[in-house]
Amino acid sequence: MNPIDTRPSALVVGAGIVGLATARALAIAGHRVTILERSARAVGASIRNFGMVWPVGQRSGPLFNRALRSRDIWREVCRDAGIWHDPAGSLHLARGEEELAVLEDFMEMTGRDRDYRLLTPSEVGALSPVARTEGLLAGLYSADEIIVDPPAAIRSLPRYMTEKWGVSFHWETPVLEADTGVAITAQGVLRADRMFVCSGPDFETLFPSAFAELPITRCKLQMMRLGAQPDDWRMGPSLCGGLSLTHYGSFSEAGPSAERLREMFQVHYPQYVAWGIHVMAAQNASGEIVVGDSHEYGHTLDPFDNWMVNRLILDYLSGFARFPRQEVSHSWNGIYPKLTDGRTEVVLSPVEGVTVINGLGGNGMTLSFGLAEEVVRSL
Ligand SMILES: Cc1cc2nc3c(=O)[nH]c(=O)nc-3n(C[C@H](O)[C@H](O)[C@H](O)COP(=O)(O)OP(=O)(O)OC[C@H]3O[C@@H](n4cnc5c(N)ncnc54)[C@H](O)[C@@H]3O)c2cc1C
Repeated sequence: MNPIDTRPSALVVGAGIVGLATARALAIAGHRVTILERSARAVGASIRNFGMVWPVGQRSGPLFNRALRSRDIWREVCRDAGIWHDPAGSLHLARGEEELAVLEDFMEMTGRDRDYRLLTPSEVGALSPVARTEGLLAGLYSADEIIVDPPAAIRSLPRYMTEKWGVSFHWETPVLEADTGVAITAQGVLRADRMFVCSGPDFETLFPSAFAELPITRCKLQMMRLGAQPDDWRMGPSLCGGLSLTHYGSFSEAGPSAERLREMFQVHYPQYVAWGIHVMAAQNASGEIVVGDSHEYGHTLDPFDNWMVNRLILDYLSGFARFPRQEVSHSWNGIYPKLTDGRTEVVLSPVEGVTVINGLGGNGMTLSFGLAEEVVRSL
């Protein structure tokens, strides 16, 4: 540490996207930032996800605006750091009348705030070489969404943040205890003016009683990758089937048609509803297709992947998309914290000078950069 450095100091626990976004916002606001990460590199939800930076899934108002701001930060950071990203946009497909009704009502409710287009099947076909157009009724196209490659992006951000803002990273440094101004780690004691705990699904190590009072649980998601597609073939916009229209909060803005679609899925797709499956596909930097996902809730989750769930996902995918290479090359699961009372994040101060940021659920890649700026601004 530079002895004449007069900047306020901040410790951030966790080098997932929430910790990285918090460190970025603090560094820009003039703090000297140190990140403490338990593992040799981040291996949690932040590298296991689709990499979908996804404003279309956010409700209109503050969340949608936060998602757009986060997306803009991702773009800026990726360009500046030379991190691969694809401004692919998104396509939500409607293959049944109930799905079409949701897309139409959603367009009507949000039309003034969002620049979306409802495409005919032939327009969808022109934009997406993978969407099945036979039996397709329409597709909702949005240009807002971008894709990043999570393992590569989350691995590259620390080096960039060190070079750009002098953020220090202490890897293999589990924080065992935290209190005002002090973190006790497995490698020794560190002091700072402020601390930010961004520990993802670990509710037990730091401030367990604060977490115990929260309506929070964990969610396990099963994911797969189809092997790299031939040559430089790209799939175009990321694709979502009809089940996603009941998954993302934004589509509830469609009103009664969203409720009718939910009821229809309960009758006709009970296994999908029971396993919280909706099906999306995005293409990463290596040309692989990332496919998922399911949602299983509980504090202690089955560590094993259920191949029947993967089968359901692949069956549903084959109903709306067809890829040149279909074979699965990887499967894995990821776990994130989920608030059960509908809140989209939790920001709390269990003791003076410590801020816990958690509970972003399935939206951490989409919302963290914007949320972190808001939190730091409010200090
Ligand atoms: C399969 C899957 C798909 C998803 N898809 C998307 C998507 O496409 N778009 C989107 O917006 N969101 C998506 N999400 C959600 C997103 O990935 C999460 O919201 C986000 O990654 C959470 O980030 P985090 O930093 O809170 O957690 P994590 O990435 O889990 O990071 C927490 C870090 O804290 C460290 N840590 C914990 N406790 C300590 C301690 N005591 N000391 C030191 N270090 C500690 C851990 O080692 C870990 O590295 C998905 C999630 C999953 C699982």
